[in-house]
Formats: sequence, structure tokens, C-alpha cells
Amino acid sequence: MGYSAQIYHEKKISIIVPVFNEAGHIALFYKELTDVWKNLHDKYDLELIFVNDGSTDDTDTEIKKFTQSDARVKYLEFSRNFGKEIAVSAGLKYASGDAAVIIDGDLQHPVELMPQFIALWEKGAEVVVGVIKSSKNKNLLRKHGSRIFYTLLRLVGDSNFVPHGTDYRLLDRKVINAFNNCTERNRITRGLIDWLGFKRELIYFDAKERRYGKPTYSLSKLSKLFMNSFVSLSFFPLKLAGYLGLLITLIACLFGTFILTEQYILRDPLQLHFSGSVQLAVINMFLVGIVLICLGLIALYIANMHTEILNRPFFIIRNKENFD
Ligand code: UDP
Ligand code: MG
Repeated sequence: MGYSAQIYHEKKISIIVPVFNEAGHIALFYKELTDVWKNLHDKYDLELIFVNDGSTDDTDTEIKKFTQSDARVKYLEFSRNFGKEIAVSAGLKYASGDAAVIIDGDLQHPVELMPQFIALWEKGAEVVVGVIKSSKNKNLLRKHGSRIFYTLLRLVGDSNFVPHGTDYRLLDRKVINAFNNCTERNRITRGLIDWLGFKRELIYFDAKERRYGKPTYSLSKLSKLFMNSFVSLSFFPLKLAGYLGLLITLIACLFGTFILTEQYILRDPLQLHFSGSVQLAVINMFLVGIVLICLGLIALYIANMHTEILNRPFFIIRNKENFD
């Protein structure tokens, strides 16, 4: 093969592939990608960055086969498993292209769509998001889990969020730079990219089946991702206590006023004879409501601290003119 990394073209595309125990897929992925690239070869330089997220199988040797024969292939190896989100972030930090495409190394993201991503970018899109139409491989729990997840997020969360958006994305250099300026640690790549804004285009695709192995995202990793998405994309869970408190206090107040007027002011015309324990229960409910409201108030401060600690840039600039 012997491709050199020398710059031939004006534009360079970085392809970022996070891999964790994907030894069975690497060679095939490389082949599919280079096949697709043959048609793009005349227009763009390629930088293929594999980020080995602490694999324990032969992923390392598999990748090294290609770093030796193909100078376009670059390789980052983590000291241990840090998770896909971090692997993608590392890839974006090291990417030098005018645009970067993030793609899974397990061939579930159709490589042949890459020219379409690039074409939309050429037409002015700054973020191109691969959106999943259906996935055959998912079991029922995962399938319904993701439906419920997106419905919940849409109800409580951020309106900028692309439902069913995957990590198969193209980012313009401006977006990569903005992304690299985000310092939060508990990051969800998709959520963060969606938060950044920019001109967005969508490409719909069917996820393919995994050829080898199981999805390396275990259920526990997925639930962690799920909770992280909620916590980092919405403050609703924090405020839930407050809302509940308001509701409970309101109900207790209504009950209380009813008992007070019916039994003590109007002298029990309905003959309900509210006992002492009923009255105690209503007072108790009122107090629980007050405690929850206080929790909600504290949550507001915590939400404030959370945004401060995330330390996201205050604004993202797309373009500057006449500034040096
Ligand atoms: N991956 C990773 N680190 C991890 C888990 C996964 O880099 O801790 C990579 C994995 O090798 C694959 C991609 O992230 O290229 C997507 O992982 P997976 O197929 O397990 O997730 P799913 O397809 O279920 O979203
Ligand atoms: Mg996968």
C-alpha cells in the first residue's frame, strides 16, 4: 500500500474510531473504509485515528498492522478502559482535519454513507448527525429502553437534542474547536455536540448487525450513560422534589381548609366526623410538603453550582469578522 501522509489536497478529513476489544472487526473496517475512500481519495486527505480504549484482546496488534503499512493511520492507545465518550474526546483533541467523522469500529455504522456526510458538509452543514431508523440487533429491553429514554428526555430536557441521533457524526473544524473547549468530565459526546448548536443536517440509516462479539456496552454501562445524560442534560430530576413538595402541600392545604371549615366553622353539616388521626395525617402531609419544597430550593442552588462547575463556554461563536 504505502500511502504517505504528505498533504496533497486542500482539505483533510479525520476519521475517529473508538475501539474496545474489536480485534475481529478492525481489518474489515479498515478494508471497507479504504474501499469507500478510493472515491474520495482525489479530493481529500485522510487521517484515520484509532483510539484503543484499553482493549484486552488483539486489537492493538490488529491496528499496528495498518499503522505500519499506511501512514494515514494514526493510533492512540489508552492505558486502560476510559469509556467511549472519553475515547472520542481524545480523538477529537488529536484530530488535525478540516472536519472529523466519528464512527464506531464495529461496522454497525455504515461506512458507505461517509461520502454523504462529507457532501452535506461541503454544502455548508457544520454538524452532520447519523440518525438511526431501526436496529435489528437490539434486544427488546434495549429497543424499548431507548424509546422511553428519548421520550423522557424530550419531555424534560433540552430541545436541542436530536432524538435517536447516534455518535456517527461529522463535525466541522469550528465545531471540533468548540467541543475541545468544553472541560466537563462526565461527558456525553452526543449531548455536548447537540448543545453546541451550529448548522445541523441529519442522515438516516439502518444500524447493521454486529458481526463479532457482543456490544461492548454492557447494560450497566448503558444505565450509567442513561443517568449521566439525564443529569447533564436536564435539571428536572433535581427539581422533582420541589415540584412534588408543591403538589403535596397544595393537596394538604385543600384538605386542611376543608376539614377546618366543614368541622369547626360550619359545625359538621355533612356529618363526616374527622377523627384526630385524620387531622394529624393532614398536618403531617403539609409538613412533608414543606420539607420537600425546601429540598427543591436547595436543589436550585445545586443546579446553579452544577452549571458553574461544568464550566461550559458562555457562548459559541461561529464566525468572526474584522477582528484580528
Ligand atoms: N467502545 C469504546 N469503549 C468502551 C465501549 C465501546 O471505545 O468502553 C467502542 C466500541 O469498540 C465501538 C463503539 O465504541 O467501536 C460502540 O460500542 P458498542 O458497539 O459496544 O455500542 P453500541 O453499538 O451498542 O452503541
Ligand atoms: Mg455497536
